[in-house]
Amino acid sequence: MNNTVARVMVDIAHTNVDKMFDYRIPPQLIDKVATGMRVFVPFGAGDKIIEALVIELSDETMVHDYQLKEIQSRIDEYPALRQDQIDLAKRMKERYGCLMVDAIRLMIPSSIRRKAVEGKEVKTVSLVLPKQQVKEIIESIKKKAPNQAFVLEILIQVEKMAVVDLEKLRKGSSTAVRALEKKGLIESKNEREIRRPYSSIVINDDIRPQLNDDQKKAVDAIVSALDRGFCQKLLMGVTGSGKTEVYMHAIEQCIENGRNALVLVPEISLTPQLMSVFASRFGDDIALMHSKLSGGERKDEWERIVTGKARVVIGARSAVFAPLKNIGIIIVDEEQETSYHSQKHPRYSAIEVARMRSIAHESVLLLCSATPSIDTYYRMTQQVDEVLRLPKRVMDRPMPTVELVDMRKEVYRGNRSIFSASLYKRMKKSLSAGEQIILFVNRRGHSTQVACLHCGNVMRCDNCDVTLTYHDNPSRAVCHYCMQEYEVVEKCKECGNEYFRYQGVGTQKVEKQVLELFPDAKTLRMDFDTMQKKDAHLKAQQEFNQGNADILIGTQMIAKGLDFKNVALVGVISADATLFFPEYNSCERAFQLITQVAGRAGRGDTRGDVVVQTHNPDHFAIMCAKEQDYDKFYDQEIVARKACMYPPFGAFVRYLISGRSQSDVKRIAGLIHNKLKAMMRQDQSVKPLMYRAAPAMMEKIKNNWRYEIVIKYSDKDMDKMVSVLWRILHEVESETCRLDLEIRPVNMI
Ligand code: ADP
Ligand code: ZN
Repeated sequence: MNNTVARVMVDIAHTNVDKMFDYRIPPQLIDKVATGMRVFVPFGAGDKIIEALVIELSDETMVHDYQLKEIQSRIDEYPALRQDQIDLAKRMKERYGCLMVDAIRLMIPSSIRRKAVEGKEVKTVSLVLPKQQVKEIIESIKKKAPNQAFVLEILIQVEKMAVVDLEKLRKGSSTAVRALEKKGLIESKNEREIRRPYSSIVINDDIRPQLNDDQKKAVDAIVSALDRGFCQKLLMGVTGSGKTEVYMHAIEQCIENGRNALVLVPEISLTPQLMSVFASRFGDDIALMHSKLSGGERKDEWERIVTGKARVVIGARSAVFAPLKNIGIIIVDEEQETSYHSQKHPRYSAIEVARMRSIAHESVLLLCSATPSIDTYYRMTQQVDEVLRLPKRVMDRPMPTVELVDMRKEVYRGNRSIFSASLYKRMKKSLSAGEQIILFVNRRGHSTQVACLHCGNVMRCDNCDVTLTYHDNPSRAVCHYCMQEYEVVEKCKECGNEYFRYQGVGTQKVEKQVLELFPDAKTLRMDFDTMQKKDAHLKAQQEFNQGNADILIGTQMIAKGLDFKNVALVGVISADATLFFPEYNSCERAFQLITQVAGRAGRGDTRGDVVVQTHNPDHFAIMCAKEQDYDKFYDQEIVARKACMYPPFGAFVRYLISGRSQSDVKRIAGLIHNKLKAMMRQDQSVKPLMYRAAPAMMEKIKNNWRYEIVIKYSDKDMDKMVSVLWRILHEVESETCRLDLEIRPVNMI
């Protein structure tokens, strides 16, 4: 029996249409419509033609014959989604309280959905006659028609070239091409151009270092787990222990077994380096996916994956949805990073999604880190055989030595500059030895605050509950939440006195002071402001690697993952900012950050020194980071977590209500609060460990007032609660407020 009915989801994000609609498959499309295919259907009273996705096929329907509309046409000839992705979308709907379309839209790039970018065609030309003959012709026309001669000369060398590229090489080439075509000397073809991201990437020779014993053991353990059903492993390797080499060996075997691989990295800035290493081994088998690709690149990479041309996908968070079939291994690099958690609806965790996909594909999920999250480490060590360790750096390279500098003593000695005496001395030494330096600063801009010396008034954003950051060139105060810029006035608004002091340190200020102290040094700054252009990360990394700068100054984005060979000194300008952030995991963040930054030093043949400036040298997180001793940190932190029932023992949930009107926000929060209370009275089997309803830590962002209800459950109860918590949110409707539910949030500002 042929399927004559297709159940489709329409591409409209609204609760009212978050269900399947039946359509008749017209005779000419019978057997040509498959699940996961995109089709055009007439929808609604006006029969507007819209895009839809086929979820199921059937030979029957409850819809009356005369009411059953017909599919208009197929959009592509192949299914845009596989069955396992459709199932994943269903699971995401339950877990993240989103609509099916919300999930589906994460899986099909918008440039494909909206047909915005057509595959670009380019005209290429090639020779018609044998090369020897063409050479003679060149001689004869050289004088009269130099452009034509030029085109022929090029084509002798390269066989085929796009006309646009010829024109770039020499103006007038396209006219010459037309003339040559007329003479019948060359022929042209229209070919679809595949847009590959990072075409400027340098592909080095594939050096295959001999694996050391620890690497071998890890590879063996992973390889023997391939094709044996779902399993999770934690690869815990200190910085510079050669984790990437382990990934590549595991992937090679995976591909040989006929399956595909997915590698996730926490930040887009880490993709170029990985691409160049992977490209040298896997060539064209790899595809790249992240949100900064152009619409066209995204579409082309996506199609290369769907059609099976690319077998290894590398990318940031959103790449977890890559349309790979038959996944044998998913690798999550730097698994502790919060960037794996999406901060917009649907608030998915790429690691959770990776786990769902791993289970569906019966593959290995390999979480990797030098400093795994406390949560992951706890869960993994509850099971045997899950943790693989690379305790040493490759080639017996020593771990960098870390010096803690007590900045209170610096002030006491009269040093009020950004740099401690020790950091300054070491910088001077490194510079004269021709070694490179990295300075880590946790803020971009010039300084963190603009404050009045007389009354203490601090410049704040009008739209947000935050202080402004001072930026140089041009001089202005910027809100890092809403990006609003303010003029820095000479006089304090409160007391009318003239002096403003620029407190705190940002990347700009560090760069400025470095250049004052070392006028001959060449600096390179990597932060949000300097990394706006496409490929900026790649260019900056290449610049630094080629030695075109002596000192790299940067924020978070340079802290992890990057493999620079000539860096002998790393300076952490201030280690304290993360330490006292009012979140349960602030110690963990501080420890991770320092360990990660320190890990950038001494990765080549040079030794590595790290100077960490702090006002809290006795804090246990800072001391453990100095010793780069994860286990010691973990042992102490896990005790504290247990005592407070923080994750992994407890699990947080947050309802966040935000909106323009403070009273509306409060009223809606009250509605949710009442429903929660009623639910708790009704079902006493699960008791929250904590319950709080109050304004959020940042009470206002972008002119939106924010109110939160935070609940803590014991970890084992959490999963039972997910569906009822979502139901309560969906029952409340508000025209004026935004309602969010965050389950196990990574931060709660
Ligand atoms: P990390 O563990 O910090 O991710 P990487 O994978 O970036 O470390 O490896 C650091 C460097 O060590 C890389 O340049 C890599 O090519 C090199 N490397 C990896 N394994 C070996 C090995 N067994 N012998 C020598 N060099 C190696
Ligand atoms: Zn603001």
